[in-house]
Amino acid sequence: MITLTASGRYQRLWAGFVLCLVWMGSVHASAQLNGAWRPALSTDTPQTVMQEYRDGQLKGFDPSILQRFQVSALGSWVVIAPKPPWDNNERVLTIYPPPFDTVTVYEQDQTTALALDDFKVSAHGHGRLAWRVPLSQAASVPILLKFEPSVTLSAPVRFEIQPWNEYLQQDAQWLVFASACFAIMLAMVLMALCFALMLRDITFAWYAGFILCYTFIQGVQTGFLFHPLEWEWLSGMGMTSGSIAVSLSVAFASLFMMRFCELRTRAPLLRVPVIALAVGMSLLVVMRCSQITLLTDTAQILLNPLLMIGAVLLLLSAIAAGVRGSRQAWFFLLGWTPLLLLNAVTSAQANGALPSLDWLNDASLAGGAFEAIVLSLGLADRALRLRQDRDLVRVLADHDALTNTLNRRAWSERANIILSSGEPRPVALLFLDLDHFKLLNDCQGHNAGDRALVAVSRALSAELRPTDIFGRYGGEEFVALIDGTTEEHAMHVATRLCRRVHRLEIPVNEKVMLSISIGVAMRRDDDDVESLAERADQAMYTAKLGGRNQVSLYSGSKSSATTTSGLHVVEKRRRDI
Ligand code: GH3
Ligand code: MG
Ligand code: MG
Repeated sequence: MITLTASGRYQRLWAGFVLCLVWMGSVHASAQLNGAWRPALSTDTPQTVMQEYRDGQLKGFDPSILQRFQVSALGSWVVIAPKPPWDNNERVLTIYPPPFDTVTVYEQDQTTALALDDFKVSAHGHGRLAWRVPLSQAASVPILLKFEPSVTLSAPVRFEIQPWNEYLQQDAQWLVFASACFAIMLAMVLMALCFALMLRDITFAWYAGFILCYTFIQGVQTGFLFHPLEWEWLSGMGMTSGSIAVSLSVAFASLFMMRFCELRTRAPLLRVPVIALAVGMSLLVVMRCSQITLLTDTAQILLNPLLMIGAVLLLLSAIAAGVRGSRQAWFFLLGWTPLLLLNAVTSAQANGALPSLDWLNDASLAGGAFEAIVLSLGLADRALRLRQDRDLVRVLADHDALTNTLNRRAWSERANIILSSGEPRPVALLFLDLDHFKLLNDCQGHNAGDRALVAVSRALSAELRPTDIFGRYGGEEFVALIDGTTEEHAMHVATRLCRRVHRLEIPVNEKVMLSISIGVAMRRDDDDVESLAERADQAMYTAKLGGRNQVSLYSGSKSSATTTSGLHVVEKRRRDI
């Protein structure tokens, strides 16, 4: 048997951690590269650009870190030159993250266009653009690329030249990672849609819309929808559909967070701007889809400012709701803030900052999966709390506020279940009424009366079994349904209850102690709760007429009564009251 010391265990943990980092960092034998670039001019030819490169007239850059090429109406020329030692084996040039616009590779006698939505190229790359360098081309030859003009601010990219096998391995790893992230997000969407339908709660639908849009955005941004999913119909629509999905996702996120973070009660003032954001974003979608140039251009101009305002607004609203006690708001912040930070850093990178953080594209994908999981947990927590609230409301609705015993409705419901069960067992109903209670109220005040009611109901509950159905029928009247009891036993229980109340020694006035009169009726075949209670009530009146503080049994034409003071049973003629 192997036993590990604490330090040995830590060493193994560290070794595992380092191995993970090595795997994640993927120490690959990529070629060292030099880079140079300049904006394209109308008079350029590939030969003149290469000549300028050889003359050292292009601007140098490090291709291994993120580099943004200036927006120019004609695009930008980029030269990637491998440094020695050169490896002439099969190799691949990759561009990460994949740009939206086409990158043209200039070979000696031909050009190859690389694009996310190109379905003809053999090695298109997953999550990045890839160009398989022809074996005929010596490894030392610089590669000339042209980034075609971009309609938007082009995102920074980095370059790598890898051996073919290593490229395949990295490609497969990325596919596994991306598939897992997309699967998680889609599973959460599906689950939320099912819950929205089953629970008829629109919050789940807004959540599903939000995550679905985010999944789509990631699918376009990483190129997953183009390769490996091969959605050819999306070809040429990546940018448009992506920005529509961004607007829609913010609209859904606003509606979702408004309900999820309980803005109505926690931060009502922020609710109006959040609704306005949702409406504004939906309008952008309509404008973008309108095909009217003026409207689509305006939507494109408005998108980024609205996104920034929206991010700040949702962040502030969630914090405000969280501070004011919304538990879900913290779930929202936990899931959403990482994405917000990633977006902020990506925007900063578009302006040239933080070029060494080159994993943001994949991190946004993992962030989406993380958010989907956290928000689903938040929704589960919300469902749990709603169930607890519902249970509490049911308890409150079924119980009398003063004595905390079952109220008349809830008692009747439960008693009815027993009476209509069809079981031939004997059932007894005890109808209990406090004696001279009005006098107690008059002499000592209503509060003292309330305290007496609570004390009596507690004593009666304690005296009965948990299976007996005890409740407050109204005012100073209580009822107890005793299932499976004989007439004799019911009278015995009732007598015990009578004595117990008397023993509480609650004064009504200087002379009289509080007591209780009880009428007992046994269930007949055709009885329902009302008819049984009516007979028990009649028996109770007999007990009152017999002098109070006693028990009376309803038995057809006559009632029998027993006092708490003596165990003798007084037979009385039943009177019609
Ligand atoms: P009896 O012995 O004939 O039953 O006389 P009683 O005074 O008990 O009967 P009555 O029906 O004349 O009075 C019942 C009183 O119970 C009247 C009402 O003010 C009082 N009561 C009903 N509900 C409450 C309550 O929740 N709190 C208090 N303090 N008093 C209540
Ligand atoms: Mg009464
Ligand atoms: Mg009374």
